[in-house]
Amino acid sequence: MSRSADPRQALVIGAGLSGSAVAFSLAQRGWTVTVLDRARGLGAGASGLPVGLAAPHVSPDDNLLSRITRAGVEATLQRAQALLKTGTDWALTGVLEHNLAGKRRLPSDPADHHSSPASAAQIAAAGLPPVTPAIWHAQAGWIRPRQLVAAQLQTPGVRVRWGQDVHAIERQGDLWTVTDAQGQTLSQSRFLVVASAFDSLALLRPLPGFAVPLNPLRGQVSYGLMSDLEGDLGAQHNPFHASPALPPFPVNGHGSFISGVPTPEGPLGWYIGSTFERNCEQAPVRTEDHAANQVRLATLLPDLGQAMAGQFGPDRVRGWAGLRCTLPNRLPAVGPIDSLRMPGLWISAGMGARGISLAVLCGELTAAWMSHEPLPLPPAWVKHLAAQRYAMA
Ligand SMILES: Cc1cc2nc3c(=O)[nH]c(=O)nc-3n(C[C@H](O)[C@H](O)[C@H](O)COP(=O)(O)OP(=O)(O)OC[C@H]3O[C@@H](n4cnc5c(N)ncnc54)[C@H](O)[C@@H]3O)c2cc1C
Repeated sequence: MSRSADPRQALVIGAGLSGSAVAFSLAQRGWTVTVLDRARGLGAGASGLPVGLAAPHVSPDDNLLSRITRAGVEATLQRAQALLKTGTDWALTGVLEHNLAGKRRLPSDPADHHSSPASAAQIAAAGLPPVTPAIWHAQAGWIRPRQLVAAQLQTPGVRVRWGQDVHAIERQGDLWTVTDAQGQTLSQSRFLVVASAFDSLALLRPLPGFAVPLNPLRGQVSYGLMSDLEGDLGAQHNPFHASPALPPFPVNGHGSFISGVPTPEGPLGWYIGSTFERNCEQAPVRTEDHAANQVRLATLLPDLGQAMAGQFGPDRVRGWAGLRCTLPNRLPAVGPIDSLRMPGLWISAGMGARGISLAVLCGELTAAWMSHEPLPLPPAWVKHLAAQRYAMA
């Protein structure tokens, strides 16, 4: 058991993108941080996703979700630039959004010029017909979340204790005490940040006056090895050497297709995902979800979908599944839970389908707030992100 009364020491529950981002940002400000995770190592939760996109969200009125996501993507790309290896851990490739339903509309007076109608050359490079409606996001790319988590946790001042399954949190005097299922104290601190995604609910539910409606949303990615691709498709084994057959950048719009990225097994791979399944608290890999992802690819990139049909057989396709943790307005819950009644208790959770884009920004917000610095975001944004929105009067 460790105990901390030092004002610049904090405990974080959860070593995924959210918890590691909070720990990193606190450590940058001189805090000493202990991160507890029930798993034996990295990537047990949604942040074990083999690869995902940091990509903006656009809306005709450049709504709050669009603005926050854009700021989040910028923060993530800067963090990736500082901590990760280009080409193997992440790449600022740009992303083409196939505007399938025609629902996505750019603001008429864009606040930034990083998203624009895709050019004929970009649409052609994706292998789509010239008339395809599409948006080009220049400030976007792929990231392997596990690499970002690892890098953030390796910061001086951050210590991780694996195999710490927190069963309950309780305030004793001015310390937050976290205990395991046997009631043994695992650690104590004046400052506790809950960043354990959907499982935060079980820890927070017993606290009076706070009801954060976190929900699980299962998702599966299907992937395979580039070396298994045949014919023209197989020509592209290096992400920096474009082939006419595979898009040289990720394509999203109905799920996303990414290629030329190392697989969890090591060799370069291709990825199509992801499925969405509500009310499921487990994340097994399912054969029927590979079939759903095959249809997704055929819709997103019809010619490629046809060319890759043979890749979805049981001998070739591999899968990864995890639980996103969502909140009703698609914005996370960040900040103090109730600074009067529960001082020292903070949260950063509910990243939904955008943890890669949002967790770094939320970590910065949390750490600045805990350090009594001016907040890095406009007050109106903070109001919509604030966990206090779920505190009951
Ligand atoms: C299929 C799929 C595709 C996705 N694609 C994208 C994408 O392209 N772009 C994007 O931005 N986002 C994407 N996401 C979302 C993104 O992966 C998540 O938002 C993000 O990883 C959440 O990070 P987190 O740290 O909040 O949660 P997690 O990564 O789930 O981490 C929670 C951690 O808490 C630990 N924990 C839980 N309970 C306890 C406890 N009681 N005691 C101790 N430890 C505990 C767990 O072991 C885990 O390590 C995707 C998610 C899925 C599932």
